[in-house]
Amino acid sequence: MPEAPDYQIVPVPAFKDNYLWVLRKGAAAAVVDPGDAAPVLAYLDREQLRLTAILLTHHHADHIGGVPQLLKRFKVPVHGPRDERIDCITHHVVEGDRVELAQIGATFQVIEVPGHTRAHIAYYGEKVLFCGDTLFACGCARMFEGTPPQMHASLQKLAALPSDTRFYCAHEYTMANIAFAKAVEPGNQALAERALSDAALREKNLPTVPATIGREIATNPFLRCAQPEVIAAAAARLGRTPANPAETFAAIRDWKNNF
Ligand code: ZN
Ligand code: FE
Repeated sequence: MPEAPDYQIVPVPAFKDNYLWVLRKGAAAAVVDPGDAAPVLAYLDREQLRLTAILLTHHHADHIGGVPQLLKRFKVPVHGPRDERIDCITHHVVEGDRVELAQIGATFQVIEVPGHTRAHIAYYGEKVLFCGDTLFACGCARMFEGTPPQMHASLQKLAALPSDTRFYCAHEYTMANIAFAKAVEPGNQALAERALSDAALREKNLPTVPATIGREIATNPFLRCAQPEVIAAAAARLGRTPANPAETFAAIRDWKNNF
Protein backbone atom coordinates (compact mmCIF):
# COMPACT_ATOMS: atom_id res chain seq x y z
CA MET A 1 0.00 0.00 0.00
CA PRO A 2 1.39 3.44 -0.90
CA GLU A 3 1.74 6.05 1.86
CA ALA A 4 -0.62 8.54 0.25
CA PRO A 5 -3.18 8.22 -2.52
CA ASP A 6 -1.84 8.41 -6.01
CA TYR A 7 -4.72 10.57 -7.22
CA GLN A 8 -5.77 14.19 -6.65
CA ILE A 9 -8.88 15.38 -4.84
CA VAL A 10 -10.31 18.71 -5.97
CA PRO A 11 -13.27 20.65 -4.57
CA VAL A 12 -15.86 21.86 -7.06
CA PRO A 13 -17.93 24.47 -5.23
CA ALA A 14 -21.70 24.35 -5.80
CA PHE A 15 -24.81 26.07 -4.46
CA LYS A 16 -24.12 28.28 -1.45
CA ASP A 17 -21.67 26.17 0.52
CA ASN A 18 -21.41 22.66 -0.99
CA TYR A 19 -18.21 20.98 -2.11
CA LEU A 20 -18.58 18.37 -4.85
CA TRP A 21 -15.37 16.36 -4.59
CA VAL A 22 -13.68 15.30 -7.82
CA LEU A 23 -11.04 12.55 -7.75
CA ARG A 24 -8.68 12.66 -10.71
CA LYS A 25 -5.76 10.71 -12.12
CA GLY A 26 -4.47 11.10 -15.68
CA ALA A 27 -7.53 11.69 -17.86
CA ALA A 28 -9.91 9.87 -15.49
CA ALA A 29 -12.18 11.43 -12.91
CA ALA A 30 -14.76 10.33 -10.38
CA VAL A 31 -17.11 12.53 -8.38
CA VAL A 32 -18.61 12.26 -4.90
CA ASP A 33 -22.14 13.61 -4.31
CA PRO A 34 -22.66 15.68 -7.48
CA GLY A 35 -25.66 17.73 -6.36
CA ASP A 36 -25.35 19.88 -9.46
CA ALA A 37 -24.06 18.67 -12.85
CA ALA A 38 -23.15 22.05 -14.36
CA PRO A 39 -20.07 22.90 -12.27
CA VAL A 40 -18.83 19.30 -12.52
CA LEU A 41 -19.20 19.24 -16.31
CA ALA A 42 -17.52 22.65 -16.56
CA TYR A 43 -14.59 21.36 -14.50
CA LEU A 44 -14.30 18.10 -16.48
CA ASP A 45 -14.38 19.98 -19.79
CA ARG A 46 -11.88 22.58 -18.69
CA GLU A 47 -9.48 19.90 -17.44
CA GLN A 48 -10.26 17.49 -20.31
CA LEU A 49 -11.24 14.73 -17.94
CA ARG A 50 -13.53 11.77 -18.52
CA LEU A 51 -15.91 10.78 -15.76
CA THR A 52 -15.53 7.10 -14.77
CA ALA A 53 -17.64 6.72 -11.61
CA ILE A 54 -20.04 8.44 -9.24
CA LEU A 55 -20.14 7.85 -5.47
CA LEU A 56 -23.18 8.88 -3.41
CA THR A 57 -23.46 9.17 0.37
CA HIS A 58 -27.19 9.88 0.86
CA HIS A 59 -30.38 10.85 -0.91
CA HIS A 60 -30.57 14.63 -0.39
CA ALA A 61 -30.94 16.67 -3.56
CA ASP A 62 -27.79 18.71 -2.99
CA HIS A 63 -25.87 15.40 -3.16
CA ILE A 64 -27.57 13.53 -6.02
CA GLY A 65 -29.34 16.21 -8.10
CA GLY A 66 -26.72 16.30 -10.86
CA VAL A 67 -26.54 12.54 -11.46
CA PRO A 68 -29.13 12.22 -14.28
CA GLN A 69 -27.45 14.94 -16.32
CA LEU A 70 -23.97 13.47 -15.77
CA LEU A 71 -25.25 10.05 -16.88
CA LYS A 72 -26.46 11.58 -20.15
CA ARG A 73 -22.86 12.42 -20.98
CA PHE A 74 -21.07 9.52 -19.26
CA LYS A 75 -22.35 5.96 -18.89
CA VAL A 76 -20.68 5.22 -15.57
CA PRO A 77 -21.37 3.13 -12.47
CA VAL A 78 -23.18 4.92 -9.66
CA HIS A 79 -22.32 3.57 -6.20
CA GLY A 80 -24.57 4.35 -3.28
CA PRO A 81 -26.57 3.14 -0.30
CA ARG A 82 -29.67 0.98 -0.29
CA ASP A 83 -32.27 3.74 -0.19
CA GLU A 84 -35.34 3.58 -2.40
CA ARG A 85 -35.31 7.36 -2.67
CA ILE A 86 -32.25 7.19 -4.95
CA ASP A 87 -33.23 5.55 -8.22
CA CYS A 88 -30.05 6.16 -10.25
CA ILE A 89 -27.76 3.78 -8.31
CA THR A 90 -26.29 0.91 -10.32
CA HIS A 91 -24.15 -0.57 -7.50
CA HIS A 92 -25.74 -0.70 -4.05
CA VAL A 93 -23.24 -1.01 -1.22
CA VAL A 94 -23.43 -1.87 2.47
CA GLU A 95 -21.09 -1.81 5.49
CA GLY A 96 -17.74 -3.40 4.69
CA ASP A 97 -18.20 -3.47 0.91
CA ARG A 98 -15.28 -2.37 -1.21
CA VAL A 99 -15.65 0.09 -4.05
CA GLU A 100 -12.82 -0.05 -6.53
CA LEU A 101 -12.23 2.87 -8.85
CA ALA A 102 -9.72 1.18 -11.15
CA GLN A 103 -8.95 4.16 -13.39
CA ILE A 104 -8.40 6.42 -10.38
CA GLY A 105 -6.33 3.80 -8.57
CA ALA A 106 -8.48 4.05 -5.46
CA THR A 107 -10.30 1.53 -3.33
CA PHE A 108 -12.78 2.54 -0.66
CA GLN A 109 -14.44 0.66 2.12
CA VAL A 110 -18.07 1.47 2.86
CA ILE A 111 -18.94 2.61 6.39
CA GLU A 112 -22.62 2.90 7.30
CA VAL A 113 -23.20 6.10 9.29
CA PRO A 114 -26.96 6.46 9.86
CA GLY A 115 -28.27 9.56 11.62
CA HIS A 116 -28.45 12.49 9.19
CA THR A 117 -30.46 10.09 7.04
CA ARG A 118 -31.20 6.46 7.82
CA ALA A 119 -29.16 5.14 4.86
CA HIS A 120 -26.19 7.53 4.93
CA ILE A 121 -22.83 5.94 4.10
CA ALA A 122 -19.20 7.10 4.00
CA TYR A 123 -16.27 5.94 1.88
CA TYR A 124 -12.84 5.31 3.41
CA GLY A 125 -9.55 4.32 1.84
CA GLU A 126 -5.86 5.14 2.35
CA LYS A 127 -6.60 7.68 5.08
CA VAL A 128 -9.07 9.53 2.89
CA LEU A 129 -12.70 9.74 4.00
CA PHE A 130 -15.71 11.05 2.11
CA CYS A 131 -18.36 11.50 4.76
CA GLY A 132 -21.07 13.55 3.04
CA ASP A 133 -23.25 15.19 5.69
CA THR A 134 -22.25 13.20 8.78
CA LEU A 135 -19.04 14.68 10.17
CA PHE A 136 -18.35 18.33 9.35
CA ALA A 137 -15.20 20.27 10.18
CA CYS A 138 -15.68 21.15 13.86
CA GLY A 139 -19.30 20.01 13.75
CA CYS A 140 -21.76 17.40 12.60
CA ALA A 141 -24.95 17.29 10.58
CA ARG A 142 -28.49 17.50 11.86
CA MET A 143 -30.30 14.27 12.55
CA PHE A 144 -33.19 14.22 10.11
CA GLU A 145 -33.89 10.50 10.33
CA GLY A 146 -31.83 9.13 13.20
CA THR A 147 -31.68 9.15 16.96
CA PRO A 148 -28.89 10.76 19.01
CA PRO A 149 -27.43 7.36 20.06
CA GLN A 150 -27.36 6.32 16.39
CA MET A 151 -25.69 9.53 15.20
CA HIS A 152 -23.26 9.43 18.12
CA ALA A 153 -22.31 5.84 17.23
CA SER A 154 -21.83 6.81 13.58
CA LEU A 155 -19.52 9.67 14.54
CA GLN A 156 -17.60 7.36 16.88
CA LYS A 157 -16.98 4.99 13.98
CA LEU A 158 -15.39 7.85 12.03
CA ALA A 159 -13.46 9.03 15.09
CA ALA A 160 -11.89 5.56 15.32
CA LEU A 161 -10.17 5.96 11.94
CA PRO A 162 -6.44 6.81 11.96
CA SER A 163 -5.93 10.32 13.36
CA ASP A 164 -4.15 11.48 10.20
CA THR A 165 -7.16 10.54 8.05
CA ARG A 166 -8.19 13.51 5.93
CA PHE A 167 -11.95 13.83 5.64
CA TYR A 168 -13.80 15.55 2.84
CA CYS A 169 -17.24 16.63 3.99
CA ALA A 170 -19.83 18.12 1.67
CA HIS A 171 -20.29 21.59 3.18
CA GLU A 172 -18.21 24.58 4.25
CA TYR A 173 -19.83 25.16 7.64
CA THR A 174 -16.61 25.41 9.60
CA MET A 175 -16.65 28.98 10.95
CA ALA A 176 -20.23 28.70 12.24
CA ASN A 177 -19.32 25.34 13.75
CA ILE A 178 -16.26 26.83 15.46
CA ALA A 179 -18.36 29.65 16.94
CA PHE A 180 -20.62 27.04 18.50
CA ALA A 181 -17.72 24.83 19.64
CA LYS A 182 -16.25 27.84 21.47
CA ALA A 183 -19.54 28.30 23.33
CA VAL A 184 -19.35 24.65 24.43
CA GLU A 185 -15.65 24.69 25.34
CA PRO A 186 -14.43 28.25 25.89
CA GLY A 187 -11.21 26.93 27.47
CA ASN A 188 -10.14 24.62 24.63
CA GLN A 189 -6.74 25.90 23.44
CA ALA A 190 -6.60 23.69 20.32
CA LEU A 191 -9.99 25.10 19.36
CA ALA A 192 -8.77 28.68 19.81
CA GLU A 193 -5.84 27.92 17.50
CA ARG A 194 -8.13 26.30 14.97
CA ALA A 195 -10.41 29.35 14.99
CA LEU A 196 -7.45 31.52 13.93
CA SER A 197 -6.05 29.22 11.26
CA ASP A 198 -9.42 28.42 9.69
CA ALA A 199 -10.46 32.09 9.75
CA ALA A 200 -7.24 32.91 7.86
CA LEU A 201 -8.18 30.35 5.19
CA ARG A 202 -11.71 31.73 4.83
CA GLU A 203 -10.39 35.28 4.53
CA LYS A 204 -8.55 34.10 1.42
CA ASN A 205 -11.71 32.28 0.32
CA LEU A 206 -9.90 28.92 0.66
CA PRO A 207 -11.67 25.75 1.87
CA THR A 208 -11.14 24.63 5.48
CA VAL A 209 -11.80 21.11 4.20
CA PRO A 210 -10.22 18.57 4.29
CA ALA A 211 -9.52 18.47 7.98
CA THR A 212 -8.09 15.51 9.90
CA ILE A 213 -9.77 13.16 12.33
CA GLY A 214 -7.08 13.97 14.90
CA ARG A 215 -7.92 17.66 14.76
CA GLU A 216 -11.60 16.88 15.18
CA ILE A 217 -10.91 14.77 18.26
CA ALA A 218 -9.10 17.79 19.75
CA THR A 219 -11.66 20.45 18.78
CA ASN A 220 -15.04 19.09 17.62
CA PRO A 221 -17.47 18.99 20.58
CA PHE A 222 -19.52 16.24 18.91
CA LEU A 223 -16.48 13.95 19.06
CA ARG A 224 -15.65 15.03 22.60
CA CYS A 225 -18.75 13.84 24.47
CA ALA A 226 -16.62 12.00 27.05
CA GLN A 227 -14.59 15.14 27.92
CA PRO A 228 -15.35 16.77 31.29
CA GLU A 229 -15.83 20.26 29.81
CA VAL A 230 -18.32 19.00 27.22
CA ILE A 231 -20.17 16.89 29.80
CA ALA A 232 -20.38 19.98 32.03
CA ALA A 233 -21.79 22.06 29.17
CA ALA A 234 -24.40 19.36 28.48
CA ALA A 235 -25.25 19.14 32.18
CA ALA A 236 -25.84 22.89 32.30
CA ARG A 237 -28.31 22.55 29.41
CA LEU A 238 -30.07 19.50 30.84
CA GLY A 239 -30.14 20.61 34.47
CA ARG A 240 -28.63 17.24 35.45
CA THR A 241 -25.59 15.11 34.65
CA PRO A 242 -25.99 13.22 31.36
CA ALA A 243 -26.10 9.44 31.85
CA ASN A 244 -23.65 8.62 29.05
CA PRO A 245 -21.79 10.15 26.07
CA ALA A 246 -24.79 9.64 23.77
CA GLU A 247 -26.92 11.75 26.09
CA THR A 248 -24.19 14.38 26.20
CA PHE A 249 -24.20 14.30 22.42
CA ALA A 250 -27.99 14.70 22.33
CA ALA A 251 -27.86 17.75 24.60
CA ILE A 252 -25.07 19.42 22.62
CA ARG A 253 -26.75 18.67 19.27
CA ASP A 254 -30.04 20.12 20.56
CA TRP A 255 -28.19 23.24 21.71
CA LYS A 256 -26.58 23.62 18.26
CA ASN A 257 -30.01 23.39 16.62
CA ASN A 258 -31.01 26.48 18.56
CA PHE A 259 -27.68 28.31 18.54
ZN1 ZN B 1 -27.82 16.03 3.53
FE1 FE C 1 -25.90 18.36 2.12
